[in-house]
Amino acid sequence: MPWRHDRDENPVLISNLSQPNPNSDVSPAAGSDFQSVGEIATTAGELFEHLRRSGIRFVPQPTEVGVEQWSDVFVDADEVAAEPPVASQPADVSASATQPAPTSTPAQTSAPAATPPQSPPAAKSRPALAAVSGGSDPYAGESLPVAQRVATLQALAETVAGCTRCKALAQCRTQTVFGEGNAAPRFVFFGEGPGADEDKSGRPFVGRAGQLLTKMIEASRLQRDEVYIMNTVKCRPPGNRNPEPSEVANCREYFEAQLQTLRPEYIVCLGAVSSQALLQTKLSIGRLRQKFHQYHDSKVLVIYHPAYLLRNPDAKRAAWADLQMLMKDAGL
Ligand code: SF4
Repeated sequence: MPWRHDRDENPVLISNLSQPNPNSDVSPAAGSDFQSVGEIATTAGELFEHLRRSGIRFVPQPTEVGVEQWSDVFVDADEVAAEPPVASQPADVSASATQPAPTSTPAQTSAPAATPPQSPPAAKSRPALAAVSGGSDPYAGESLPVAQRVATLQALAETVAGCTRCKALAQCRTQTVFGEGNAAPRFVFFGEGPGADEDKSGRPFVGRAGQLLTKMIEASRLQRDEVYIMNTVKCRPPGNRNPEPSEVANCREYFEAQLQTLRPEYIVCLGAVSSQALLQTKLSIGRLRQKFHQYHDSKVLVIYHPAYLLRNPDAKRAAWADLQMLMKDAGL
C-alpha cells in the first residue's frame, strides 16, 4: 500500500500493519532475524505506531520539479554505474563469450542437467540518453553569401526592433538586443535573454556574465569576433526573471530565422532556457550536457550559463569539460 498525503488514511494503514496476517504462511527470507511474517508485521506496526505517537502522520512525496532540480545537483548514479571500472571487466572476455547461451526449455533427460555457473545479475543501468533533435532535416533553402547574410540579418534586426508581441517586455525594454558577430560563423553561442547591461547597450553578453563568456570563448582557442552571439528572447525580462514560455514562443520565429541564415556548424546553448527552447525538450541541463544534439545541420552542445557559473564556481570544472568536448570535436 503506497503512502499518501491523505492524513485520514494513514491511521488505517498503521492499524493494518500492526495486525499480523494470521493467514500468511510465507516464511521470511533466509538470514532474516524474524521467525514469521506475522512477527515482521507486528514489528512494522510498532514502528508506525511509534511514528504516529511522534506526530509523523505522512511521508512527503517527491514532486516532479523537485526531482528535476536535484537531478542537476547530484551526479547521476545510474549513469556512473553504467560504466563499470576496468578492473571489473572479466579477465578473459573471449572465453566467457564462448559459453553456450542458456535455453528457456528444460533438458529432456532424466539425469539432472549440469547447473551452469551462477553469474551475478547484470547491473541495472538506464540506457544512455539519446541525442535530442530540435529538427533533423537540413536547413531550408540555399546558404547565402556573407554579404546577403549581413543584409538579411540587418532587415530582421529592424523588424525585431519594432516588435511588441510580448506586451510586458516591450513596455519595459530600453531597446531590443538582436545579436552580433560573424555572419558566417562555425560557432553560435546561444543565451537566454538580455540583462540590464545588454538592455542599456543593445549588445548581447556585455555584463559580468558576458565577460566570463568571452573568457570561455578565448579558452576554447576562439576569438569573440569569430563567433556569433545571440539570445532566445530579444527583450530584457523585468527583474532578470526567466522568459515566460509564451515569450519564448513569440520570439521563436526570430531566433530560428537567425540560425537559418547563419547555419553554424555548432550551436552552444548557454543554460536551460536556450537549450530547452532550441531542442524543444524539458530535459534538464544535467541530462543534456556532455553529448551532441542536433538542430538541422548544426551540432548542439549544452553548457551551463556563465551567469550560473558566476553564482556557482564549482560548476566551472563541468563547463570546462564541455568546452573541451567542443574543442576536440571541432579540431580546435
Ligand atoms: S521578446 Fe521577442 S517576441 Fe517578445 S517583444 Fe521582444 S522581440 Fe518581440
